[in-house]
Amino acid sequence: MRTTVGIIGAGPAGLLLARLLHNAGIDSVVLESRDRAYVEHRQRAGILEQGTVDVLRAAGAGERMDREGLRHDGIELRYAKKRHRVDFPALTGGRSVMVYAQTEVCKDLIALQLKEGGPLLFEAEALAVEGADTGSPRVRFRHEGVEDVLECDYVVGCDGFWGVARKAVPAALSRTFERTYPFGWLGILADVPPSHDELVYAHHDRGFALLSMRTPTVSRLYLQVPEGTDAEAWRDEDIWAELERRFETADGWRLQRGPITQKSVTPMRSYVHEPMRHGRLFLAGDAAHIVPPTGAKGLNLAVGDVVTFARALTYEKETGSAELLDAYSATCLGRVWQAERFSYDMTTLLHRAPDATAFEDRLQLARLERLASSRAAETDLAEGYTGFPFG
Ligand SMILES: Cc1cc2nc3c(=O)[nH]c(=O)nc-3n(C[C@H](O)[C@H](O)[C@H](O)COP(=O)(O)OP(=O)(O)OC[C@H]3O[C@@H](n4cnc5c(N)ncnc54)[C@H](O)[C@@H]3O)c2cc1C
Repeated sequence: MRTTVGIIGAGPAGLLLARLLHNAGIDSVVLESRDRAYVEHRQRAGILEQGTVDVLRAAGAGERMDREGLRHDGIELRYAKKRHRVDFPALTGGRSVMVYAQTEVCKDLIALQLKEGGPLLFEAEALAVEGADTGSPRVRFRHEGVEDVLECDYVVGCDGFWGVARKAVPAALSRTFERTYPFGWLGILADVPPSHDELVYAHHDRGFALLSMRTPTVSRLYLQVPEGTDAEAWRDEDIWAELERRFETADGWRLQRGPITQKSVTPMRSYVHEPMRHGRLFLAGDAAHIVPPTGAKGLNLAVGDVVTFARALTYEKETGSAELLDAYSATCLGRVWQAERFSYDMTTLLHRAPDATAFEDRLQLARLERLASSRAAETDLAEGYTGFPFG
């Protein structure tokens, strides 16, 4: 098999890249190790930044998102039983975010790819990227039990944190930056309308909690839990009781309970691999970087990377200049580090570390009071939340 761009992974990064390249008249092949149902039902992110929304619309993949997604103009911060709303459009000159689940983004992009785009092979596991530093890189893969080779002009590793693409960058040229957190998120999906019409980020002595949603009838809620927690060790009744404690306000706000349909624990990690390019191999999305989910940045960073790559390759095709491809890693890393900083700030603002001192507890409250009383502090949060510009 031969193609211009070999894409490993059909998560949001790989699927959107295939769509952007198709629209630019550049052919690609997508290899995905899992089956279609798995990719379409994997519960993950749910908040699309303004820039992501704009890109999906421009790519012709925004029709259902605009019909079914929920535009959100703010979030609520909750601490010491108080509530403070951050108004995004007022602070950012009109920017907002969209609640539309990653599962739905993937379903829309898969349907478009299968209808109009190039080959998208499910259950096709990439085994290795070879010749990344030559003019003709290859992806060795196994599809339906048979090993094959995809010859490419470029390979883009969109295969997530556990994929194979990153391994093709020689260790001597790689630098990694990492932080793990001593807590995770116990996340539930529940068949109950969200108890608030915007996301609620709650700071509490017992730990962080987040109220989010997937649709007008499905709530997504999270609890900070110790690292290594088994989701099944939490009874549904105990989850609701703990959520009620952490969301409690002085004004009698109430959390609606409903049947829990899914529960899982997500570990929290910050990770960056530099550089994001080696020869003709480019890394995009979780293959190159991970953020803790507190800032809702993971999916949006993946989108930013593939937009940068698609623009750079289109530029090369139109002008013959590899200038933007050469700048890919630096361009992406500028935005990645801003998102790392923002996600780290949000995480340390809202979570209670197991070894937190009384001094650190007071500092967290002072930071929250500052956000609630200073337009400058609030604007910084609103700009970060609604997103950093795509390069
Ligand atoms: C459990 C979990 C919960 C999350 N929750 C949130 C959240 O609430 N908010 C938020 O903003 N972000 C969240 N994230 C992060 C967000 O989902 C990711 O940043 C986003 O999925 C990145 O997209 P991606 O396409 O780069 O990678 P992925 O979505 O990981 O896609 C990679 C794809 O590559 C495939 N693949 C892997 N190896 C191979 C191989 N060898 N060959 C072929 N295919 C391969 C995988 O099957 C997968 O389909 C969460 C992540 C996880 C893991």
